Amino acid sequence: MELSDRAKSIPPSITLAVGAQVKELKAAGKKVIAFGAGEPDFNTPEPIVQAAIDALRSGVTRYMPSSGTPEAREAIAHKLQTENNIECSQANISINAGAKMSINLALMAILDFGKNQEVVVPTPAWVSYKPMIELAGGKMVEVPTEVFSGFKCTPEELEAKITPNTKAIMLNTPSNPCGTMYTPSELQAIAKMLERHPEVYVLSDEIYERLIYSDVQHLSLGSIPEIAHQVITINGLSKAFAMTGWRMGYACAPEPVAKAMNTLQSQINTSITSFCYATIPVALGLHEEVEAMRQVFAKRAKLMFALIQQWPNTECVEPAGAFYAFPKISHYFGRTSPAGREITDSVSFTSALLEETGVAVVPGDDFGGCGPEHVRLSFACSEEQITEGVHKICEWLEQF
Ligand code: PMP
Ligand code: GLU
Repeated sequence: MELSDRAKSIPPSITLAVGAQVKELKAAGKKVIAFGAGEPDFNTPEPIVQAAIDALRSGVTRYMPSSGTPEAREAIAHKLQTENNIECSQANISINAGAKMSINLALMAILDFGKNQEVVVPTPAWVSYKPMIELAGGKMVEVPTEVFSGFKCTPEELEAKITPNTKAIMLNTPSNPCGTMYTPSELQAIAKMLERHPEVYVLSDEIYERLIYSDVQHLSLGSIPEIAHQVITINGLSKAFAMTGWRMGYACAPEPVAKAMNTLQSQINTSITSFCYATIPVALGLHEEVEAMRQVFAKRAKLMFALIQQWPNTECVEPAGAFYAFPKISHYFGRTSPAGREITDSVSFTSALLEETGVAVVPGDDFGGCGPEHVRLSFACSEEQITEGVHKICEWLEQF
C-alpha cells in the first residue's frame, strides 16, 4: 500500500531527531554532552504549574472553544499591545498547540495548492519552515545569507525574490539557527520595502524575543503602522517560559486570518488542552522569572562563543539572541577525522563527532542556504556542559 506523496516528501525534523538520539544513547548508559535540543533546561516556573493544577482540579477538563478562552485571548492581546506596540484585540488572536501549529495554521489560512504560491524566507532558517510551507501547498523561495553578513539579508535582496506568485515572506528574529537579530532600523527598512507590496503577508516569528543578549532592541514588524495589516505575528510560551512540552503558541493576525486559523483548528485539533488556557495570563505576567532565565542564557552565550572562537579553522557570529551558535565547519570537509572517518559534509562531521567524542550537535543541512557548511549548538544547557563539550570539540578539531 502506497503512502501519500505528501507523507513521502516530508523529512523528519532533524532538531527533534538529534534530541531523540541523545535520549536513546543516554538511556543505553552512554555519556553524551548534548547541544542538540532547542529547549530551555529550566523547569516551568511554579506559578504557571500551579495555575494548570488549579484549573484541572476545578474541573476545566472538557472541550473548549477553538478560539480559546476570552481571558487567555485578552492576556495575549494586552501583552502585544503593551510590550510590542501592536494594535490588536482579542479578535486578532489564535491560540494553538505550539508556535509550530500557529505557523502551520497561518500558512494553511493564506496558501492554496496548485497556484504556484511562494513564501520568501531568508536562510539558514528553522528546519520546519520548508516542510510547513510545502504541507500548506506553497513553495519556499530562499534568500541565502552568509556568516560574514551576520546571516542577515537586505531589503533589496528580499525584494529581488518577490514575484507575482509571492504570497508571504517569513522573518525570524532573533534567529534559529543563526542566533542573530535584525536591528530596529534594518526592520524599518524592510518594512518600507514591504509597503510597496501590500498584497504580501509577513509572517514574523518572534518566539525568541525575550531571549536577547546584546543591546539591540527587538522590534515587532506588526507595530509598524504602514504594514501592520500585512503582518501575522507568531509567538509562544515554549522558549521564554520554559514550557516546550506544554505546546502553547499563538498568532496575532488580521481578523479574517485569525478567524480562518480558528476555524481550521476547529477541524484539526479543536483547541489547546483545556486546563492550559488558565496558565496564559499567569505566564505573561511573570517578568522576573523570565529575566532571571535570560540572564543565565546570556552568560552561557558569552561562554560558548568564547570557547568556539578557540576552535581552529572555523567562523562563528556571536549569538545576540535565541540560544544557538552556528559555526562554519566546512574547512574539515574532504578530511579524515582523528579516528579515521571520512568527513564529506556536515552530517558526516556531526556523526563522527558524536561517535568519537560523545558530543551531539545538529548538522546544518536542513536549515537551508549555507547551512550545510555549519553545525548548530544550543546553549540551553549548563555552563559545565558547555565548558566540557565545546572544549572537547576543540581538542577533536586540533587532531585533524
Ligand atoms: N519558531 C522557531 C524559530 C523555533 O525555533 C521554534 C522551536 N521549535 C518554534 C517556532 C516553535 O516552537 P513551539 O512549537 O515549541 O512553540
Ligand atoms: N525549535 C527547537 C529546535 O530547533 C525545538 C525542536 C523543533 O521543534 O524543531 O531545536
